Amino acid sequence: MGEVPLSHPRYNSLMGRKLLTEAAADGMLADSALIAHGRGEAYDYLLGEATCESARTAITQSAILMKQAKRCVISVNGNAVALAAADLIRCAAVLQCPIEINIYYRTPERMTALNSRLKKVRIEVSNEEAPTGWKGNWQTAVSDVVILGMNPDSRIPNLEGPRANCCADGILNADVIFVPLEDGDRCEALMEMGKKMIVVDLNPLSRTARRATVTIVDELMRMAPILLFDLVNEVSNETPKWDNRANLDNSLAVMLRRLDE
Ligand code: ATP
Ligand code: MG
Repeated sequence: MGEVPLSHPRYNSLMGRKLLTEAAADGMLADSALIAHGRGEAYDYLLGEATCESARTAITQSAILMKQAKRCVISVNGNAVALAAADLIRCAAVLQCPIEINIYYRTPERMTALNSRLKKVRIEVSNEEAPTGWKGNWQTAVSDVVILGMNPDSRIPNLEGPRANCCADGILNADVIFVPLEDGDRCEALMEMGKKMIVVDLNPLSRTARRATVTIVDELMRMAPILLFDLVNEVSNETPKWDNRANLDNSLAVMLRRLDE
């Protein structure tokens, strides 16, 4: 795929495809990753490729939970690294929480490729200006972000195979897990451990979306800078009563309304 012109009406969608095909060529993705992205794209088309009001509310709720957490962790798979590594590292720097690579089809090659990419992006982000409104030494905050996953020392109970491997300093002992593009089985196993699960999933009907504590029905690249904004600027310490099913229904209603247009 050649250069994507900025003027293209679906620039972001084309950019997502470009980032994913490049990540696949770099050995960061399982074969099924592009299929999973395609499923997301179909739902995003129905959403009008925009952040809807219910997603915006879910992002603020997520920022509140992540800031209140005793131990927050950002769990990433290949697609999340390919699409949003820089913003996720910025979020981790603001929260001073670790990022854990936790992939479904774990191979040493893919883990190494993802780990190297995250470390490279961490250096790039540490040399940038701090996000507007953030105070402190940005370079130190970013350099301090720990990247876990290469040496898992624990397992998620009630989950089979290598996808259950995780780190005690990350997922195993976290109370709040932000996990874009999670799988339904793993989301359920982590919920059963009593964790608060914040997921990003364009499919409001997926098992992940229905089971999570907070579901953000939005495209990952589009929502990540908004989450960062809320992490830096949102001051509320309250947890308003959150009805995830009602919020999901509102996102689904946006898609269904478009079918009537
Ligand atoms: P579940 O395992 O929860 O039952 P699934 O098996 O249908 O869902 P997976 O293949 O496990 O889905 O995960 C892909 C999910 O991620 C899809 O629901 C898709 O909508 C969503 N998705 C893919 N790309 C993105 C993206 N860029 N932003 C947000 N969501 C995405
Ligand atoms: Mg699945």
